Amino acid sequence: MKRIEDINLNNKKVIIRVDYNVPMDKDLNITDDNRIKESLKTINYCLDKNCKIILLSHLGKVKTEDDLKTKSLKPVSIRLSELLKKEVTFIPETRGELVNNTIKNMKEQDIVMLENTRFEDLNGKLESGCDEELSKYWASLGDVFINDAFGTCHRSHASNVGISKFIKESCLGFLVLKEIDNLYPLINNPNKPYTVILGGSKISDKIGVLENLKDKADYILIGGAMAYTFLKAKGDNIGKSLYEEESIDFAKNILNSTNNIILPIDHIVSSDIDNDNYQVKDKIDIDDIALDIGPKTIELYRSYLEKSKTIFWNGPMGYYENKTYQKGTEEICKIISNLDCISVVGGGDSASAVINLGYKEKFTHVSTGGGASLELIEGKNLPGINI
Ligand code: ADP
Ligand code: MG
Repeated sequence: MKRIEDINLNNKKVIIRVDYNVPMDKDLNITDDNRIKESLKTINYCLDKNCKIILLSHLGKVKTEDDLKTKSLKPVSIRLSELLKKEVTFIPETRGELVNNTIKNMKEQDIVMLENTRFEDLNGKLESGCDEELSKYWASLGDVFINDAFGTCHRSHASNVGISKFIKESCLGFLVLKEIDNLYPLINNPNKPYTVILGGSKISDKIGVLENLKDKADYILIGGAMAYTFLKAKGDNIGKSLYEEESIDFAKNILNSTNNIILPIDHIVSSDIDNDNYQVKDKIDIDDIALDIGPKTIELYRSYLEKSKTIFWNGPMGYYENKTYQKGTEEICKIISNLDCISVVGGGDSASAVINLGYKEKFTHVSTGGGASLELIEGKNLPGINI
């Protein structure tokens, strides 16, 4: 694993694997260009070094011929060009003569972007299956490979791990370095007291995270639907709240083996998930669905957060997609905003909740990778980082 600053990039032809898997509406307008903006640092650094820049990325999943119409990276190349105030040449192919000739004719500081790498998945999963021939071909297009796509680091695909096997030099770009520089301390010697907030829908998605953090964290504050699996495991009535039967045993075991798991003490409940009429209750009744943590729980969690030096947060505290049930998530954002400590958010929904509620700048780091950040926190080796 080399860092971008440790490699001589002067006048090199660099292949940068970026993560331009951005959300788009049905008219193919980009609805959130955060990932494009986050890639600019590495691209501008390479421009300063007079590199020729070849950009590779995937966009969504490509399973049918129809996906070829809606998953093109062309709109992304236009947005990137606007942000960079510089021409970006889009090649509507992933290999072949047009790719070869365009790259052969590149001058220093030229930028080209190839079509969605997953178009190669249509005929036999060549990208996602890390096909050797495809990896070699892409590697042959440049001198140096820079992996700057954190969101796919937990996958071994042709456009990340594959290329790195067949090119002379590989390194990690600034976006990936920022991620690992912020995430590794959460599993290696975090400043204490260390509080982990875990929410979201399923314990089963977070078992690895819980296992790896239960002895490292001083306090684990539970929210979201996963709280109800824990409460049911304890024998409490949870009404009709979402829970996971198959995780009850795991929840019982972990509650018996540690004493640092803190559960909600009151709840925002309703009769239906889409009903905006709610009540605040300490005890959940038989027909209630609990959709958010209550005010006493928020105050309890505040008391732990205010004494923390490090906070890691994954998973929203409630059904935050409905404004009525986003208060728990928003109050946790507010509490953390006022603290002088290391605060990191990882996870797809939790990161977008923090960003959409307007608190991104108040956190030390908001990860750009959902699955990748969780696997790193689980203590797994991410193949895209070990290049
Ligand atoms: P992340 O992507 O941050 O890891 P998850 O995917 O595990 O988070 O969970 C997010 C989902 O959990 C959201 O769709 C949210 O609505 C849901 N959720 C959280 N709390 C509840 C609840 N009490 N009842 C139903 N759904 C909930
Ligand atoms: Mg999610």
